[in-house]
Amino acid sequence: MQCTWCEKKEVQETTKTCYWVMPDGKDYVEISQIPAKSCQNCGIYLTDEMNQEIDNHLYMKDLSDYSNSITFNDLLEAPVIDVFSLK
Ligand SMILES: [Zn+2]
Repeated sequence: MQCTWCEKKEVQETTKTCYWVMPDGKDYVEISQIPAKSCQNCGIYLTDEMNQEIDNHLYMKDLSDYSNSITFNDLLEAPVIDVFSLK
């Protein structure tokens, strides 16, 4: 696998824990075990695609039953927000 940022080709797959501000801007969530790349030059980072995917999930998913510390898998498996349920 090649690095996204530099020319290095010995890039390892790893995981990373990141803090994300929720779409409403009021809260944050700690997401662990996110698939990431590890480059000797650039360090450990998420690809743009993964950043975008997590953004999309945070907009779509109802995380009210979860704590502020979740895993990437929790995020994938969380229920989609039901926009038709009126409260
Ligand atoms: Zn690199």
